[in-house]
Amino acid sequence: MQELNIAITKFSLLDNLPIGLCLLRQDFVVLFWNRCLENWTKISRTEILGRNLCDHFTQLNQPKYQLRFQQVFQFGFPAIFSSQLHQSLIPSLLPNGEERIQKTTVNAIPTDDGNGFYALVVLEDITELKKRLKIYQQELTQRKKTQAELERSNAELEQFAYLASHDLQEPLRMVISFTQLLARRYQGQLDADADRIIGFAVDGAKRMEALIKDMLTYSRLAIQGKPFEYSNCEEVLDLTLKNLQLLIQETGTSIYRNPLPTLPADKSQLVQLFQNLFSNAIKYHSDKPPEIEIGAEAQNGQWLFYVKDNGIGIKSQYFKRIFAIFQRLHTRQKYPGTGIGLALCQKIVNRHGGKIWVESEPGQGSTFYFTIRVIETR
Ligand code: ADP
Repeated sequence: MQELNIAITKFSLLDNLPIGLCLLRQDFVVLFWNRCLENWTKISRTEILGRNLCDHFTQLNQPKYQLRFQQVFQFGFPAIFSSQLHQSLIPSLLPNGEERIQKTTVNAIPTDDGNGFYALVVLEDITELKKRLKIYQQELTQRKKTQAELERSNAELEQFAYLASHDLQEPLRMVISFTQLLARRYQGQLDADADRIIGFAVDGAKRMEALIKDMLTYSRLAIQGKPFEYSNCEEVLDLTLKNLQLLIQETGTSIYRNPLPTLPADKSQLVQLFQNLFSNAIKYHSDKPPEIEIGAEAQNGQWLFYVKDNGIGIKSQYFKRIFAIFQRLHTRQKYPGTGIGLALCQKIVNRHGGKIWVESEPGQGSTFYFTIRVIETR
């Protein structure tokens, strides 16, 4: 058969490819059957060359396949048979006995006489790919489930913290006023030990009040956050400086301001963020008069802000810890506070699609950086 010889010479280069190749004449006679197909199907060339493929693989007689092949043979339209919709045109088994999952494409090659087309059936083994895809999809589903579960429990926790801190305020107010009353009425009337104990009770209750107030502010952030509106950060800074006016004057703090952008944000939360960073920069000052510099620069789709001070600085091992709620590096006697300021900053920044971090060296001041994503509001 002349055609057969031509096909074998033409395609012998493709013999060793790890894909199955089979060339069919318009009457489904097999003109080429590469070595890969021999290995996959266990059908040798001597058995199949010059024979009708449909005799070996009877599913090819089904009208849906016949119709597609006619389009290839007559008009040269290529065809793809996805493994999900079609059974394999030329099925084969893997060494472990499982059916090989194949992607089958049928390409048209013009016949030499120009009367129609040959069909080149290309089979790719996608079993491994499909397996990996399945594992990946399972992992993705699991991850989505865990994420949803986390978000739900997080929201629940936030709600709980909010309710707990809110409802604890009333009984705590009573404890504070009665211990204060006790202190006023009986100070100096009992022995020195009793005075000290009453003092501890008043002090403890006040500390608890501060902590609960902070917890309430923290849990309110997400629950009572306002929708974003275009906020001019120059105005945010003006407000911050106004709120801290007295502290700035008393401590002789110098402020260096660079131009700040206008961006979509919850303005009052931005004020809270600036205020916490500024008051920390003042509180943790060194023996030099405090200096604070603020600025921002645009950075692929977000704004990067910085607040730089010349204060006591922070050791690098605490760079992460200081942003956790109620984490402090100093005693209350040395620096007053509850350790919520930076946790609040982090929560605000996160709500604005950004991150916050610090760069610092003890004795060299600190620079707090945070990003705010620019979300288009139309
Ligand atoms: P608080 O000030 O009430 O302790 P924060 O959450 O605001 O709570 O800060 C956590 C800790 O981070 C502080 O205890 C302090 O040790 C450190 N810190 C924050 N800001 C600065 C700063 N500008 N310079 C040096 N240390 C800082």
